[in-house]
Amino acid sequence: MNVLVCGGAGYIGSHAVRELMKAGHRAVVLDNLSRGHRGAVGDAIFIEGDIADRDLLAGLIRREGIEACMHFAAHSLVGESVGRPDTYYFNNVVKGLALLDACVKAGVRCFVFSSTAAVYGDPVEVPIKEDHPTVPANPYGATKLAFEGALRWYGGAFGLKYASLRYFNAAGADPAGDIGEDHDPETHLIPLVLKAASGKLPGISVFGNDYPTPDGTCIRDYIHVTDLARAHLLALEYLRSGMPSDCFNLGNGSGYSVLEVIKTAEEVTGRSIEVKFSARRPGDPAVLVAGAGKAREALGWRPQFDDLRTIIETAWAWHRDHPDGFGGRNA
Ligand code: UDP
Repeated sequence: MNVLVCGGAGYIGSHAVRELMKAGHRAVVLDNLSRGHRGAVGDAIFIEGDIADRDLLAGLIRREGIEACMHFAAHSLVGESVGRPDTYYFNNVVKGLALLDACVKAGVRCFVFSSTAAVYGDPVEVPIKEDHPTVPANPYGATKLAFEGALRWYGGAFGLKYASLRYFNAAGADPAGDIGEDHDPETHLIPLVLKAASGKLPGISVFGNDYPTPDGTCIRDYIHVTDLARAHLLALEYLRSGMPSDCFNLGNGSGYSVLEVIKTAEEVTGRSIEVKFSARRPGDPAVLVAGAGKAREALGWRPQFDDLRTIIETAWAWHRDHPDGFGGRNA
């Protein structure tokens, strides 16, 4: 199948490209390299460009015979989104709609969307199932939910089939060790902890130890990026087999505290990590854990790297062997 992967040079997108290629699909990556890395794309076809460039999209969908689209091209930092809602609405909604329009116009029938658990906001019930109320607590979640809404209405009006995949905390790296997480600036817990373990940072700041959790630190559901990537392929097969458009949580259904993550990272790396407690980060709920049964039942999804240690081991292999990631922005 010819699959357009928007944002295929980014962290999760590049892992999806790898899985598509392994499964014998033809991946055509469109990425403006504002946050992605050319080196993450591998042997897939690569086009440097923007999802809002309607002419570029029309031409490439026709030329490459694109049948489906996976859309990862978005800004995804909660904290940044609070300070820059304009950027987030522009990138994630306005530009996303240009892509959606181009797909619909060119007759692309299947669309797999990279959504987030941030659409739920502060949970009223944990584990969080797909029918949990969606009340985003920050612009990032709000823009993803807005795009999910557009998919629903476009789907009804134009016959587009879609799957919205709501990720919990993506982590880890492809077991081959040659692609992994490389953000600038890095804000995520596991890469920061591993940078501390490798001496690139003096230690890790734990944001809050007064949460109503057993050790006082936030609990999250960490899911391996390769498992996430595989769920995209399953979603594509699901849609192609005629099943109805829907949204699915992607998480392991088990939560780990920030301190548990740090302890596991110390065990994996064999190094001690200096911990400093600091204030809570605004907008962080105490516990986010997925009710992830729907993806297992409907998509047949079976995460393979579902324990925290394995997730951190693969992340560590990447960070240890690539201390400078892909070697800088755009590399
Ligand atoms: N966190 C932390 N220190 C950091 C970065 C993150 O204590 O330097 C905490 C954060 O408050 C959250 C968890 O680690 O509870 C996961 O945060 P991350 O940014 O990795 O993912 P998010 O949950 O925001 O998607």
